[in-house]
Amino acid sequence: MGSLSPGTVKDLIGRYNFRIKKTLGQNFLVDGNIIKKIIETAGLKPGDVVVEIGPGLGSLTCEMAEKARRVIAVEIDRSLFPILEETIGSLNNVSLVEADALKTDFDRLVFDAVREPAVYKVVANLPYYITTPLIMHLLEKRFSISRMVIMVQEEVARRLTARPGTREYGSLTVAANYYARVETAFRVPRTVFIPRPEVDSAVVSLEVRDQPAVSVLNEEHFFALVRAAFQQRRKTLINALSGMRDRVPKEKWSEILRQAAIDPARRGETLDLREFALLANLYTQTS
Ligand code: SAM
Repeated sequence: MGSLSPGTVKDLIGRYNFRIKKTLGQNFLVDGNIIKKIIETAGLKPGDVVVEIGPGLGSLTCEMAEKARRVIAVEIDRSLFPILEETIGSLNNVSLVEADALKTDFDRLVFDAVREPAVYKVVANLPYYITTPLIMHLLEKRFSISRMVIMVQEEVARRLTARPGTREYGSLTVAANYYARVETAFRVPRTVFIPRPEVDSAVVSLEVRDQPAVSVLNEEHFFALVRAAFQQRRKTLINALSGMRDRVPKEKWSEILRQAAIDPARRGETLDLREFALLANLYTQTS
């Protein structure tokens, strides 16, 4: 089976009397070109193991199965399984697993499927209601993922690739770029989905780094500092940092900022990754 046309999608939904669940972010892709471009962006090769989060009706899944060694699809909605049995059931290099991606240990999942530790790619048209926690789950757990190619709302793509000092720049930008090289591959109009979402989308590629982008002595300190800087975006850096939970006195922060040659009157949201790391490391060294 190739990619699903709008007619086939409507037919499948009708024949199986399937009720689309908005709450699970079910917007099915019905454009073969977009599916091809997603697969090109993932650079799938015959030896690749791929995890797909949310196969839906299976259109992306089938196309990936033609290119990769193995596709492991994780779907939360059991009521899609009879449809998936029809669309991907005959493909012997695809395994379908019923699970909540947010709670999945992906390395374990892959090991169970291929019976050896493997480095794998994640390719997904993500359910939008869990995009940020899911990206963070995939990155923070340091699973053996080499690349993620994911469809997200355009606004999330802008946040993932934002420059310091812009409205979109935030904790998600810093975290994603810490763990990965992030690029927007292409935009996707809302018209290529059934049902049509309210916003446009973009496909983003996250090439997971072997080492984080900056060297950090204590990641807990680093991320606490990043959170503090963005939680109080309107405050000066010195005030935002002095308001952190462990209440390091303002004088100590003044000293750290002086050593880092960072102006205490700047806003936290203007700091780049290197500056966040510098501050965090000085903080770690003095605490
Ligand atoms: N891949 C299909 C496509 O492109 O047409 C469907 C994409 S649809 C945007 C998102 C899919 O993720 C749905 O099939 C939905 O049921 C599934 N899903 C939602 N929440 C999930 C979760 N927590 N874990 C795994 N799958 C989930």
